[in-house]
Amino acid sequence: MLTAIVGINWGDEGKGRMVDLLSDGQDVIVRYQGGNNAGHTVINHKGKFVLNLLPSGILREDKVNVMGGGMVIDVAHLAKETDKLREAGVVITPDNLKISDRAAICFPFNVMQDCLEEDRLGDRKFGSTRRGIAPIYADKYMKKAIRMGDLLHPDYLAKRLEEVLDWKNMCLSAYKGAKTFGVDEMTEWLHEYGDRFRPYICDVGNYLTAVAQEGKNIMFEAQLGALRDIDFGIYPYTSSSNTVSAYAPIGAGVPNLRVDKTVGIMKAYSTCVGEGPFTAEMFGEEAVRLREAGGEYGAATGRPRRVGGFDVVASRYGCRMQAADELALTKLDILDGMEKIPVVDAYEIDGELVTEFPFGEKLEKAKPHVVYLDGWKCSTTACRSFDELPAQARAYVDYIEKAVATPVKYVSVGAERDSIVIR
Ligand code: GDP
Repeated sequence: MLTAIVGINWGDEGKGRMVDLLSDGQDVIVRYQGGNNAGHTVINHKGKFVLNLLPSGILREDKVNVMGGGMVIDVAHLAKETDKLREAGVVITPDNLKISDRAAICFPFNVMQDCLEEDRLGDRKFGSTRRGIAPIYADKYMKKAIRMGDLLHPDYLAKRLEEVLDWKNMCLSAYKGAKTFGVDEMTEWLHEYGDRFRPYICDVGNYLTAVAQEGKNIMFEAQLGALRDIDFGIYPYTSSSNTVSAYAPIGAGVPNLRVDKTVGIMKAYSTCVGEGPFTAEMFGEEAVRLREAGGEYGAATGRPRRVGGFDVVASRYGCRMQAADELALTKLDILDGMEKIPVVDAYEIDGELVTEFPFGEKLEKAKPHVVYLDGWKCSTTACRSFDELPAQARAYVDYIEKAVATPVKYVSVGAERDSIVIR
């Protein structure tokens, strides 16, 4: 069975926490896109972990974890991430971590290019995490990327590096303050941070195909949400990869396999990091209260997140783009103290009410049409069954389920592994 765990909204829906929970019956966990631009937070008996590159299954001893070819990997970051986990007692070996030979390596020059471009844009910046993600994906599609598998072929790697740097230094020279990168310097960098992963690099497509043939369970773990997908999200304020579940088999290296079930992770309210249209956004004291209650600060960057009420228009679109079969509604407990809960049930554009997620400029113009549902004003964190939830909380979940036309199977009422209601 192949299951995809994906984000329905703008990211930070609590995917890490749900993957940690749902990985229980899985054999292999695969990350299929993105790089160290996002952070998945997992809290379990060993402590609190923020994973940027590694699949969340790394925190469970009996799982194999795969970093797919759709990913971009900053090996210096991966080295630090693995070191930190090992210090906390997590075992990471080629037996439980496999890295695709096709994954692109994100270099220091990609990081620099990302920063220089954001600085150049000034007020018009995208709100990049400045970790080189857009430049390395651009390099990939320009066919200039160096891939993890190249580390296994030093002569070929040296030749490619020379070609790539020749071109990259030329591109960078257009920016004021850019430095040039030498072949020796980058070879040394790869030597220091990349070589240690050589035993982990393989054709993960072969591996996963064999695993599927044995009838084992594979879980695809997405980074970010549907509204950040490069093709279907709020372009250009998107990530630079495909976050949708349809891309999972491709990014994982198994276009020959099909996803059997997609679980969409959806937050009980809206949050968004960085720039771009965010129709449900709340401001002032109401926003501060929700941000503080939810601890809404970026796991990767610490940036305060923009917050708002649940957005029916965007979430229904997200469910459709993700082909979600069922949903996990997270952070319901964050709404515990609210008297009235704002929900955006439509957008107002040029005086008209719109319920289909709009494109481009229309989205930028959209104003929220807000309705208020009753709050429950008591703690839900101890609830473990749907019946134990207060009536207003049940009504809230039912309302959302109907509005997005997808069943809510899980309701998360806390960050810990067992703080969950399964329907
Ligand atoms: P991800 O990138 O989608 O994994 O999301 P993040 O890790 O950025 O954000 C989720 C945050 O909310 C983490 O700090 C989680 O521990 C926490 N979290 C997840 N689900 C819940 C929940 O139901 N209630 C509460 N209070 N916290 C949660």
